[in-house]
Amino acid sequence: MTTSFYPPQRTLMGPGPSDVNPRVSQAMARPTIGHLDPMFVAMMDEMKELLQQAFQTGNQLTIPVSAPGSAGMETCFVNLVEPGDTVIVCQNGVFGGRMKENVERCGGTAVMVQDEWGRAVDANKLEDALQAHPEAKVVAFVQAETSTGASSDVKTLVELAHRYDCLTIVDAVTSLGGTELRVDAWGVDAIYSGTQKCLSCVPGLSPVSFNDRAIAAIKGRKSPVQSWFLDLNLVMGYWGQGAKRAYHHTAPVNTLYALHESLVILHNEGLENSWARHRLHHNALKAGLEAMGLTFVVPEAERLPQLNAVTIPDGVDDAAVRGALLNDYNLEIGAGLGPMAGKVWRIGLMGYAARKDNVLKCLAALDEVLGRINAPVNNGVAVSAALAAYK
Ligand SMILES: *Cc1c(COP(=O)(O)O)cnc(C)c1O
Repeated sequence: MTTSFYPPQRTLMGPGPSDVNPRVSQAMARPTIGHLDPMFVAMMDEMKELLQQAFQTGNQLTIPVSAPGSAGMETCFVNLVEPGDTVIVCQNGVFGGRMKENVERCGGTAVMVQDEWGRAVDANKLEDALQAHPEAKVVAFVQAETSTGASSDVKTLVELAHRYDCLTIVDAVTSLGGTELRVDAWGVDAIYSGTQKCLSCVPGLSPVSFNDRAIAAIKGRKSPVQSWFLDLNLVMGYWGQGAKRAYHHTAPVNTLYALHESLVILHNEGLENSWARHRLHHNALKAGLEAMGLTFVVPEAERLPQLNAVTIPDGVDDAAVRGALLNDYNLEIGAGLGPMAGKVWRIGLMGYAARKDNVLKCLAALDEVLGRINAPVNNGVAVSAALAAYK
């Protein structure tokens, strides 16, 4: 006889998925209805408004793509990049590398602007590339590099791209809901996010938003979008406000209930309050980690509050520590990615996980596990340093 699967109750403080708010899980368990049911359509119209608020945009084309953040990334690239186009990609971590892959699979040429991992994207380097490549059509970069915890200045980078007549694609998977993001005020043309980071929803959806300039570029394409599923010309028919909805694909009905609930929670908390909450708990976590003697990968001015990458002390076995946290404390923190594998831990404070009890639990657990293996850290001081930071 086979049995049901009952996952353990973990505390998720890695790079995502983050702790799901119980209200979101409950919303997901509500009855499935048809995706063209008038009640469902009304919920979706409301959700679109909530998403516009979260992105701080009036863009009509603001929708959740029915697949995870990577599909939102792909939606931006397959719609905006045609064979022969040049795209400048600023890379300062893992996700910029995926942008390059996307450009090349669309038949475009990626001009890579490399920044050190752990640093923000450098506007001067972008300007050099824009000058060297007047043929460039699009500039793409990641606002919140989850692989390192670095935050880049969207407003400045977008202004620069526009000065050279380029469209912009911004990855906001880890930033949406966690740090300041203003799509209209900053002039972002195309943006994508994810549900499982600072929105604290289940994984599997990717909110995206496109302004009129981006839509004009999509409508003016010379070649059809090579992906049927992600072709926004078709998706717009399904989502068009007021318009009669045409069947495109079966929307993931219950997952969309979950996203709706997480956006209601964000709306009621207030977007700026949510940004401030992430900062508050980051400051306490930072006080605790630094009291232990751990050091951050990213310089303070470029640091994301929701993703804290710290260097693993010399001689400490990365996998053994994360294993002990998981097995003894049901606590998940993230490993390093790519060249940072084995060298850093990534501690997420995303959405519902950005709470005082989580900060204290994480510090107490890390303190005990590192003490157990005689790691070169200051033991017994992290929790009190964090508590002092909350005062
Ligand atoms: C998590 C993440 C993605 C990918 O999202 P998935 O939902 O895992 O597909 C893309 N970009 C960044 C910056 C991320 O943190």
